[in-house]
Amino acid sequence: MQRAPRRVVETPHHLTLSGRRVAVLLRHSPRARRITVKVEPAHGRVVVVIPPRTALARALAFAEANGPWILNRLAQVPHRIAFAPGAQIPIKGLMVTIDHRAESRGTVWREGDLLCVAGGHGHVARRVRDWLIGQARAEIKRAVAFYAEQLGVSVKSVTVRDTASRWGSCAASGALSFSWRLILAPPDVLNYVAAHEVAHRKELSHSPRFWRIVGQIFPGYEAPRAWLRDHGTDLHRFGAVRAGAALPAEP
Ligand SMILES: [Zn+2]
Repeated sequence: MQRAPRRVVETPHHLTLSGRRVAVLLRHSPRARRITVKVEPAHGRVVVVIPPRTALARALAFAEANGPWILNRLAQVPHRIAFAPGAQIPIKGLMVTIDHRAESRGTVWREGDLLCVAGGHGHVARRVRDWLIGQARAEIKRAVAFYAEQLGVSVKSVTVRDTASRWGSCAASGALSFSWRLILAPPDVLNYVAAHEVAHRKELSHSPRFWRIVGQIFPGYEAPRAWLRDHGTDLHRFGAVRAGAALPAEP
């Protein structure tokens, strides 16, 4: 006697792979014979296929053990993610879903894992972008003020823009400039870039003295610096990119 085939059940989940929070879909498949992990090349969705009678912990451990492979495949996904309803975007390193609330009052607000956007459909992308730039400006100004005080230096101005070539820069005049896309990265990355540019108020070159100053106000800066080197290009997948814009260099 044959039992009726059970249905495939899919549940969203998150894994932390090399310090990066990655959204995965757990697919409980009655027909699967073994645990498999795939990265769908079209949109970079990570799927963990779990056969019947398999402990979830075992499937997750398998996926985590394949973390470097998953991240490598994700890095090869060239797909752009527009700021559109239903899109998943990172804010401070955590994935949120854009939820269009056409009937609601207001502009843009957070509700847990949702980024809610009111108003007409045609305004969603610009509203999300404007909101992210506003968040970036506030976070960067806070971080710059903090590290400037730590170091006892002054800063002339803080500008946030869609920088073409740098995550941050510091002019001899004391004017600092940053990419708004830092708000997409884990908080330590934004903080590190702020500390880096503030440290240039004491030492303009990237000399050993400069890196000593960075380490003084941001111990452990190597990790966010490496994150930016490894994942920085990912931040450019989200929203529109200016025509001809180059990828920023690490600061
Ligand atoms: Zn620098």
